[in-house]
Amino acid sequence: MQKIRPFLFTAAALCTAAALLVPAEEAFGFSKLGSNLTVDERDFRIFDNFADGASNNNTTAHSNFPGFTGAEMAIWKGGIEWGSGHGNGSGDPTQTSLGSGNANFEPAWMGVANGVGGGADNVVSAITSCSGGTLAFTESGFSSGWRIRFCDNVTWADGPGNVNVLQFDLQGVMVHEYGHALGLGHSGTGAATMSPSTGPSNEGDRSIHSDDIAGVQCIYGVRNFDKPTITSVSIDSVVGTVTIGGSFFSAIDNDVWYIPQAVTGVSDDARIIVSGLNSSNGGTQIIAPIPEPAGPGAIHVRINETGHHSLSNSWPLDPGSAAAVSATATFYNGSGVNPVCFGSTLPPVLGNPWNLTINATVHPGGAGFSGVLCYAGSASGPVIAAGELLVDLTSTSFGSTILVSTGFIDTFSIPIPGEAVFLGRTGTCQGFTYSAAIGALLCNAENVMLGL
Ligand SMILES: [Zn+2]
Repeated sequence: MQKIRPFLFTAAALCTAAALLVPAEEAFGFSKLGSNLTVDERDFRIFDNFADGASNNNTTAHSNFPGFTGAEMAIWKGGIEWGSGHGNGSGDPTQTSLGSGNANFEPAWMGVANGVGGGADNVVSAITSCSGGTLAFTESGFSSGWRIRFCDNVTWADGPGNVNVLQFDLQGVMVHEYGHALGLGHSGTGAATMSPSTGPSNEGDRSIHSDDIAGVQCIYGVRNFDKPTITSVSIDSVVGTVTIGGSFFSAIDNDVWYIPQAVTGVSDDARIIVSGLNSSNGGTQIIAPIPEPAGPGAIHVRINETGHHSLSNSWPLDPGSAAAVSATATFYNGSGVNPVCFGSTLPPVLGNPWNLTINATVHPGGAGFSGVLCYAGSASGPVIAAGELLVDLTSTSFGSTILVSTGFIDTFSIPIPGEAVFLGRTGTCQGFTYSAAIGALLCNAENVMLGL
């Protein structure tokens, strides 16, 4: 038996409750490193630099793991075994269901990184060789992240079936190493995945043991009865949305995490997060726009709360070519008679504040008021004393905003609703300034489309 050893391993204490309250014959063997991963450190990625062909010869796709095969799929499965469920749980021939932690803990697969990364970039990769019989190790930045290295002087096999006597099981050892990343030390229970040893041709570590489950539950808490849970997804490829069915979503301000299509930089936050989403039907449904850069993989819902329980289980999603429209903002100034004094650095994105500026120095009357008018339709004229009207006052009003001017650069922040029903909605917004001495002065406008 060769040893698997964590790179950083601290003396660990038993979960206090378990040690004190459980009768001796039921005592758990798990230990803790004294840390936990914050909800924003649940992402995990791979840099697939494994040298042996056996590491990447599983070319059979599985609907529970869209978009990935080979070492990517094996690492993905290994990570999510610690979660509380992934899709229908299928996909591994050596166990009945993936995602057995039943704790307030959910790993979030985020695909492929472009390098091995630093010690807190949450990337799994191979290292050419290790000494002392070490097969793999986890460097832990504790709550700020981790890095896992597989020692490539042995042969790693990506499964998904049995690995032979000359090979080590990539998926099972990933389960063990990710256990260190989430804060577990080695277990004294021999059958536990977190026991310190393994051997070739051992797929038994893919499925976590009751001792491992007690460990992850000790650190993150037993899964709350009202933890957000995804149970279905349905894509509307015409408008580029996904309808997420489930339970215990927040009424307002849910986030949906998507996986990026592209390989991401090692220090990037790879998550694509669509925020500001309301739920309907009593917290059982969210209709979320699918951002154009989202790829096949899985999604999570993060509800409008803090704490380990705030992230849902993962659910497979393959958006295919479905993508919501991108937000746009185009400079518009009609016949060009108005001074250019209105603008935004970014277009109006669903679920986010839209930040606008008005340059009040174009108004020689000094400090007065600045404002923005938004209508469904644009216009070119009439030209009135204030300047050229660029919005169609007979069309639907989207509201106006006015504030006391600084006399310099005035900034506005208009909240854009997150609901998918606003996707693709177009309109025109025009800035203006006003003072009692001189009256109104119209600025240029922007033609906008709400999107992502
Ligand atoms: Zn270990």
